[in-house]
Amino acid sequence: MQTTCDVCGKPAVYFDNRSGKGYCALHFRQMLEKKVRKELRKQGLSQNERIVMGISGGKDSLVMMDLLWRVEAPYHVELIALTVDEGIENGQYRGRRMDLIKRMAQERGIKHEVQSFRDKYGFTLDEAVQFLGGKEEPCTLCGVLRRRALNDYAKGLKATRLAIAHNLDDEAETVLMNVIRGDAKGLMRSENYAEDLYDYYVPRIKPMRTITERESAFYAYLIGVPPEEEECPYARLSLRDGVRSFLEDLEEKHPGTADSMVKFGENIKVKGKRVDRSFCSLCGYPTSKGRDICRVCEIKGMMREAEERI
Ligand SMILES: [Zn+2]
Ligand SMILES: [Zn+2]
Repeated sequence: MQTTCDVCGKPAVYFDNRSGKGYCALHFRQMLEKKVRKELRKQGLSQNERIVMGISGGKDSLVMMDLLWRVEAPYHVELIALTVDEGIENGQYRGRRMDLIKRMAQERGIKHEVQSFRDKYGFTLDEAVQFLGGKEEPCTLCGVLRRRALNDYAKGLKATRLAIAHNLDDEAETVLMNVIRGDAKGLMRSENYAEDLYDYYVPRIKPMRTITERESAFYAYLIGVPPEEEECPYARLSLRDGVRSFLEDLEEKHPGTADSMVKFGENIKVKGKRVDRSFCSLCGYPTSKGRDICRVCEIKGMMREAEERI
């Protein structure tokens, strides 16, 4: 194992067990900034954009905020941090990170907006899980509702892009989850929204897509982001959690597994193909072909029914 920085020869503080390279703190940071720059170019980011960043308070989201700020500050790119409070009371999971987000945004001169499920839908995630938990996995409910909330608030803020802090390992998990669910369409579906959907959705970017969980964790440590004291109380119940442990184990024994999984996912995507779709009869948003109402309206409807029964 290398004990010196591959770039400058000073003592290394980080080792990449996939490439066998060592990095000092300075060159580790530069390596990640370079990855983000390259990824933003690849994803078609130009100047004069207004990027709304989805900032949950998790380490990846705070690392993304810092990296985007470093990489984009010299250009005419406006950054806004957006936190959607799902309303998870258990252990005040979200509250404790809110002060950290506020402080980090303020230090970087970034505006911070907070919105909530309660404002958007009239109910919290806790209430949704309480009423619908038997039918739906909490992470599925949260995912559907958070995705729409982030998008709609970003749209309200006139964002040209919505930045999501998924890292390489998250992307690998998503590929494997599609395989486990037998969801071939999910695997093949392109990441980007077709242009005819821009009226509904703010185009998304994933600046951290090539940054590993381990790299993100070390960068978080370097910029003084404390480890999360508690994870989301619902995470343990999810398929993603099982897939994560499995991939972590494989990555440890076979470095590069996550990279291969993401590459596989990219290779299998069908590019430029028009997807057949329907439009929701209630909210008008696009939904899967053959559906009358979208998943968000379906969940809202089930919540109304559940509330009427009490
Ligand atoms: Zn160095
Ligand atoms: Zn709808």
